Amino acid sequence: MWKGELHFQRCTWCRTAIFRRLLCPACASTDLTTERSSGIGTIHHVSIMGRNVGRPWALATIRMREEFSIRAKVLDVYRAHVGAVVCLDSGMEAGSQQISFRPYDAPARAKSAPTRK
Ligand SMILES: [Zn+2]
Repeated sequence: MWKGELHFQRCTWCRTAIFRRLLCPACASTDLTTERSSGIGTIHHVSIMGRNVGRPWALATIRMREEFSIRAKVLDVYRAHVGAVVCLDSGMEAGSQQISFRPYDAPARAKSAPTRK
């Protein structure tokens, strides 16, 4: 459905999901496992950049379904608003500074309960 892959870390001890940190912010453990993200999240904050040069783009803080946050570019600046659901467009293989998201157009479903093991 999308091109890229996005990985994050999960604390082995308290299951907190984290992104690009060396230790767990909740329990300070360094015992982290890498998991693949679903690539779907919700915009929590967005800044519009580049207006002054006539090429606006959106820099968003996205809360992923796995409950970690990531700052990344959103491709459709006019639909990048708080609360919008976005999915991964380009992942880490494009370079760590090139991660981007786009609006997620799947039909709205009944909210799925997060699965916990
Ligand atoms: Zn932890």
